[in-house]
Amino acid sequence: MITQFIFALIMTLVSIVYSTFIPTDRLVHLDLKGAPPKISYIEQFFPFIKSLGATGLLIEYEDMFPFWGPIKPLSASNAYTRREIEQILTLAHDNELKVIPLIQTFGHLEFGLKLPEFAKLREVAQHPQALCPSKNGSRELIQNMVDQVMTLHKTSHWLHIGCDEVYQLGQCSSCIQRLRNHEQNWIFLQHVQSGVAE
Ligand SMILES: [Zn+2]
Repeated sequence: MITQFIFALIMTLVSIVYSTFIPTDRLVHLDLKGAPPKISYIEQFFPFIKSLGATGLLIEYEDMFPFWGPIKPLSASNAYTRREIEQILTLAHDNELKVIPLIQTFGHLEFGLKLPEFAKLREVAQHPQALCPSKNGSRELIQNMVDQVMTLHKTSHWLHIGCDEVYQLGQCSSCIQRLRNHEQNWIFLQHVQSGVAE
């Protein structure tokens, strides 16, 4: 009987805790690849998600960011302009939504690695999904993306670096060579630590 009572008490406490837990940050992920909403839509959308309880935005631009210089080819022809990025950030600020940019820095880089300019940076030649962390130019590509996105997000305190679902890892000859005395996970951690975290 006592055991049953304790079990019921624990379950009651668990249900109370979980039914009342509300995270401090409640972010809406905007995945903008291919079809960016017009500013006129965002003007209505941000107040709407705020009314639902959102406190911020995780913005994943991919090819909708107006990259420039050596990585300009990453931008699609219908990418936002710099002026439009400013408008989006102003609207976010007006609606008290914090903004965290999401930049893919390892996997999910099809939007860049599908292009002839960056295809040489693939881990596996047949697949544009994952970046090779050992090739010349990979770090430069990431550095340029991070620098440019953060240049237009001066008030953002956080950056999401992706790194999920790296389907091709440690498969090219350079990575295999580096992995001689290490587990496969080592090269993942090396890339995140030395290539991205800096
Ligand atoms: Zn490699």
